[in-house]
Amino acid sequence: MAFLSATLKRVKPSPTIAVTTLAQELKAAGRDVIGLGAGEPDFDTPENIAAAGIAAIKAGKTKYTAPDGMPELKQAICDKFARENGLTYTPKQISIGTGGKQILYNALMATLDPGDEVIIPAPYWVSYPDMVLLAGGEPVIVECGVEAAFKMTPAQLEAAITPKTKWLIFNSPSNPTGAGYSRAELQALTAVLVKHPHVWIMSDDMYEHLVFDDFEFFTPAQIEPALYDRTLTVNGVSKAYAMTGWRIGYAGGPVELINAMRMIQSQSTSNPCTISQWAAVEALNGTQDFLPENARLFQRRRDLVVRMLNAAQGISCPTPEGAFYVYPDISGCIGKTAPDGTIIETDEIFCTKLLEDTGVAVVFGAAFGVSPNFRVSYATSDEQLTEACTRIQNFCAKLN
Ligand code: GLU
Repeated sequence: MAFLSATLKRVKPSPTIAVTTLAQELKAAGRDVIGLGAGEPDFDTPENIAAAGIAAIKAGKTKYTAPDGMPELKQAICDKFARENGLTYTPKQISIGTGGKQILYNALMATLDPGDEVIIPAPYWVSYPDMVLLAGGEPVIVECGVEAAFKMTPAQLEAAITPKTKWLIFNSPSNPTGAGYSRAELQALTAVLVKHPHVWIMSDDMYEHLVFDDFEFFTPAQIEPALYDRTLTVNGVSKAYAMTGWRIGYAGGPVELINAMRMIQSQSTSNPCTISQWAAVEALNGTQDFLPENARLFQRRRDLVVRMLNAAQGISCPTPEGAFYVYPDISGCIGKTAPDGTIIETDEIFCTKLLEDTGVAVVFGAAFGVSPNFRVSYATSDEQLTEACTRIQNFCAKLN
């Protein structure tokens, strides 16, 4: 439509949201659908956090706050960064938004000029490249395949940096692969970044608490203090505290950047939901006991899914360090024919056919920049996961 802006023509709708919505619609229409598309925990927000939200409503704490969040939550976030990440931020260095998504978007809007480059390792979360495009920048995609355990090497990073590079978007554990960078792997990358003072680091730490086995989480500004003045450390309560719908994300970073992000928010959405902010205060200040319990639960589900997917013909599934995603390779299915004659030429065709024939909804790999793969979100019950993986096995067995 001629009426729409040129910028809008550069982007596409979020495929993760599209698959989740389609699965919900099919379910509502009575189809037997198992949704493994949405990246959100299946259990309820913990009782103490929900109660804090209710208490806020009853106490009339329902008015505007400062556009980028209220002092109580900013302090709770400073305490969290100090306690869990060894990072010292003052409340002036904190920005709170409607989900991690708004924080990332504000930061890109505040900093990108036409032609500015943003390095994004692939597989990437679907929204990074499109947010960069919306903000007028150019995504520079660095493909990190399964042979490199889906992680970027220092040589790849060095080669991707140009005088126009403004940001590196870093995400560990990763959505969609679950891959996590060890301390040594991260140090190798920060050593490259130290040599290029014009490159800033946007570290999306959303899956910090969902790590398995002996994996230890680290964030760039913690590993390399020399990067502190050019790092935006992004996190949120959605995944760790099962609070996706409450929409609270946050970041710590240099005051000048935080002020610029606040200006954008003050002219667009204003403050994130006040009630949600009070619930997030309780999430960060209250008991943290369920975090390791959740990680254990997700580890068990990861093991179940990895085992069952590896038993499917044509699928090879690595074991990730964290998050609640696996990203199996389906090279062995590509080129095969389904019983109705459909040729599985791409991972998108595989996923469409899988949904049509079996009711299992997953997100196709091309959406995340590395193919042929698909993403499974295993944030659902063991029974549902077992049933879904059995259906995937049967689907693959029927490909010729
Ligand atoms: N981050 C989640 C996902 O990847 C939520 C949906 C979205 O915003 O992309 O599924």
